[in-house]
Amino acid sequence: MIEKIVIANRGEIALRILRACQELDIRTVAVHSTADRDLKHVRLADETVCIGPAPSAGSYLNIPALISAAEVTDAVAIHPGYGFLSENADFAERVENSGFVFIGPRPETIRLMGDKVSAINAMKMAGVPCVPGSDGPLDDDDQRTIGLAHKIGYPVIIKAAGGGGGRGMRVVHSEAALLNAVSMTRAEAGAAFGNSMVYMEKFLENPRHVEFQILADTHGNAIHLGERDCSMQRRHQKVVEEAPAPGITEEQRHRIGERCAEACRQIGYRGAGTFEFLYEDGEFYFIEMNTRVQVEHPVTEMITGVDIVKEQIFIASGQALSYKQKDIKLRGHAVECRINAEDPRNFMPSPGDITRLHLPGGPGVRVDTHIYNGYRVPPHYDSMIGKLITHGETRDSALARMRTALREIVVEGIKTNIPLHQEIMRDAAFQAGGANIHYLEKKLGL
Ligand code: ADP
Repeated sequence: MIEKIVIANRGEIALRILRACQELDIRTVAVHSTADRDLKHVRLADETVCIGPAPSAGSYLNIPALISAAEVTDAVAIHPGYGFLSENADFAERVENSGFVFIGPRPETIRLMGDKVSAINAMKMAGVPCVPGSDGPLDDDDQRTIGLAHKIGYPVIIKAAGGGGGRGMRVVHSEAALLNAVSMTRAEAGAAFGNSMVYMEKFLENPRHVEFQILADTHGNAIHLGERDCSMQRRHQKVVEEAPAPGITEEQRHRIGERCAEACRQIGYRGAGTFEFLYEDGEFYFIEMNTRVQVEHPVTEMITGVDIVKEQIFIASGQALSYKQKDIKLRGHAVECRINAEDPRNFMPSPGDITRLHLPGGPGVRVDTHIYNGYRVPPHYDSMIGKLITHGETRDSALARMRTALREIVVEGIKTNIPLHQEIMRDAAFQAGGANIHYLEKKLGL
């Protein structure tokens, strides 16, 4: 078993990783920027290392500083969390070449999945259903591009192979706009991602976002932990997530989940990962794979009882998975609200001092947050300050518990999106389940 882990992240996920380590008697090293000395996990860690200034370019994205933090503390492994360097293949490679364990997939896998064209090809080979598309990059042959779009059927979407974060894509509704859209996406992708390769997919008009959680060890075992619905989004950012996804049948869950697990076996995947799909008219369409633990992993933990972060550590230690597929039984329903320090009306970030804090409790309530009374939310990072998760035997009871928890929670001194969550939880379409990815923005009048 790994004896000491550097937690290369901040905020709630750093605390989540620290808790898993402490339960396993693993020593922890918290690295932090000069703005983050008062983070909760920094106070609780066995050792701390200041790795740089407040802007993340000099600290949480500073690869040499992170490697030397592992060196000076004699750590064995580095957990990257999510965001920051978690899906950076060069970082994973530097970690391994410096003699440390990277808690995540092999660098080659991260690289394969980071290029959407190669990711889709790998998934097709494994029988994972993908969006009908160009099956590879578009070339300079305009007639071929026009023919492809005609065959796929409009609307189509032109996407950058190296794109991410919802950037580098363009929807095309007619042939007249096609070639111009291709060349503009190509130019933008070259400038933004250093890779001008683009590809074409059918544009799905009203899909839901449904994703599958998988775990794979280094002994050839891979299992799925069912799916999550993350359709409540604003600007491609998830706001509310739930598991299981409303209306997905046991047959669909096992068919698609097993395809994902099989893809993991075929590519020699290692660790936790997520297969993201668009889901429309009963069909799943793979769009991308995330090679890290996700913000929304707790909803899966609540319905399966599996501790995903501990499993990541066991896998990185070389152990076989603690579960077989038949051991995974879904129980009840879980929902998660991402609590952000932001104005609930205009979504402007709202950093500052938390002057009063009361966190909710009671049956089926879980709060993953690093904030405490008197904590100052710094202005330098993502505005998410925590996650409120509720679990119930049914979806209705999970939602009722969430409404109760949202009534109980008090965060004063800064603005938060708690009022937005209260509104979503009262919304009839959300309550019915199965709203699509455009629903929230339409409701908000965006
Ligand atoms: P990124 O890596 O930038 O997040 P994704 O491929 O995951 O890119 O796509 C981001 C979002 O763009 C999806 O969640 C969906 O809303 C939209 N999108 C992507 N591909 C399609 C498609 N073929 N049809 C409809 N919407 C799409």
